Amino acid sequence: MAVMTDMPAVTALRAPASTAAAAGNHKDADKLRFIEEMTSDVDAVQERVLAEILAQNAETEYLARCGLDGATDRDSFRAKVPVVTYEDLQPDIQRIANGDRSAILSAHPISEFLTSSGTSAGERKLMPTIKEELNRRQLLYSLLMPVMNLYVPGLDKGKGLYFLFVKSETTTPGGLTARPVLTSYYKSDQFKNRPYDPYHVYTSPTPAILCADAFQSMYVQMACGLCQRHDVLRVGAVFASGLLRAIRFLQLHWEQLAADIEAGSLTPRVTDPAIRAAVAGILRPDAELASFVRAECSRGDWGGIITRVWPNTRYLDVIVTGAMQQYIPTLEYYSGGLPMACTMYASSECYFGLNLRPMCHPSEVSYTIMPNMGYFEFLPIDEASGDVASGDAAHLVDLARVEAGREYELVITTYAGLNRYRVGDILRVTGFHNAAPQFRFVRRKNVLLSIESDKTDEAELQRAVERASALLRPHGASVVEYTSHASTKSIPGHYVIYWELLTKCGGDSAIAGNVLDRCCLEMEEALNTVYRQSRVADGSIGPLEIRVVRGGTFEELMDYAISRGASINQYKVPRCVSFPPIVELLDSRVVSAHFSPALPHWAPARRSD
Ligand code: AMP
Repeated sequence: MAVMTDMPAVTALRAPASTAAAAGNHKDADKLRFIEEMTSDVDAVQERVLAEILAQNAETEYLARCGLDGATDRDSFRAKVPVVTYEDLQPDIQRIANGDRSAILSAHPISEFLTSSGTSAGERKLMPTIKEELNRRQLLYSLLMPVMNLYVPGLDKGKGLYFLFVKSETTTPGGLTARPVLTSYYKSDQFKNRPYDPYHVYTSPTPAILCADAFQSMYVQMACGLCQRHDVLRVGAVFASGLLRAIRFLQLHWEQLAADIEAGSLTPRVTDPAIRAAVAGILRPDAELASFVRAECSRGDWGGIITRVWPNTRYLDVIVTGAMQQYIPTLEYYSGGLPMACTMYASSECYFGLNLRPMCHPSEVSYTIMPNMGYFEFLPIDEASGDVASGDAAHLVDLARVEAGREYELVITTYAGLNRYRVGDILRVTGFHNAAPQFRFVRRKNVLLSIESDKTDEAELQRAVERASALLRPHGASVVEYTSHASTKSIPGHYVIYWELLTKCGGDSAIAGNVLDRCCLEMEEALNTVYRQSRVADGSIGPLEIRVVRGGTFEELMDYAISRGASINQYKVPRCVSFPPIVELLDSRVVSAHFSPALPHWAPARRSD
């Protein structure tokens, strides 16, 4: 059975008529028809969604403050409701977190907070959500397989090996749970008690996904994936970095995994009784499989390991757009060039839409925002400055009126009570499916460094450098210039910070190495909670590295930029570099490299609580 990477000839999405699984196809046909309807009637659906949201939340304090007075039409909404950022909403969100149950943002009770990987003052943003949003998210998930079935037939004949994880949760002072959106979803009845569906059979037992211990969860998901290796038709994780972590895990733990497979029992390092019980039916003594795992993993050649171990894999199901782009070459290497399907675009605030051509090349991915998910508006980006032309509400463009080729910042209004909220994502319109615009994810605003879900901005990096460089002062040294690079050459990736130092005696190596090691750790302590959680709880980011470059390196960097056309007057030191010749230039001037000697502090509780 071939994988079709091209669009079916017709623009409209239709379930294939010839395949046998009639029941499945009826369901698929309904879902595809739903997509067609939603995307054909974008503006009318948006108008209805806005009216529904405003009617539902008419009695809220927030909309009353805006002076909406119960109006549910677009004109009143446009005239009265301001465009806001998280910081604008923080006082209201804090009240809800502290236990105020009155209808502040949403008329429906806030069921929990979703903790975004975007941070504010170093802490994850808290996004209020309501029960019914779970159904809306579920609806978007239900559209993914019908679309995939158009391109890859026969996925009901095997299983998906997905590395899925929950993260820790906390309780706000007012007693609401706060956790990431996927943790909330995996722990929901919708996920735990999902009815059997041949298109959604996974190799990972649900208790393994729900185990909060990252090692035990990964170990068991990998073991079960190995035991069912011939059944696996797709291999995935949410983001590319997660799948690469799984491969790294196999590289580190294959000997133990092979021993367990040979013995048919789990290592005592896996202590969670629920997973031990769940694995009992899957892990049986299998000497042949154990020697296969040993043979494949001891070769020292990891190229194509995914297809060697899981030979029936048709595609990788991972997001490789946005910050994850940096992992495409590595994933191509490990998978021997399998297609990578980026199926959906979503956030804690709202699930936005899906990729209607999931088998297209990663560089071609566009997401179609589904107009029933929320109310969407767009702030045009000024092409010259790369920033929004104006944050003024008067400049907002409706979903149905964005222009092909232009870039916009996404602004959302949700059923859960966010009104004209700036998400911070910059999107480019690449075309239309029916009347629905399709968007390429361009970038997240203000993100300088990212290894996985961490998002470090320029101000955070500056603060971290300042805090760490204070440790140099007693040694008569200071940082004259710095820049950074997200290094993903090895897994897990890590932050590399290039420092040019000024020392009292002028020498580049006048500072003792252990002082610079401590500077690395001090920088990590200064970074946001998502970074520190990835370092400590998930092990998905490696120790931060400072590379000291010799004096004059940053002047060379400027010369290089000017030789490539930068203006001397306007030149600014880039605070993050990724262009290979520049990284090479910096690396060739390194006099010493230092790594963080310990883990920074991190605890699930929020610092401000
Ligand atoms: P969070 O709220 O932590 O789930 O993060 C949501 C953010 O992740 C979005 O606002 C985007 O910046 C990013 N994101 C989500 N899905 C995608 C995708 N398919 N491609 C690129 N970036 C994405």
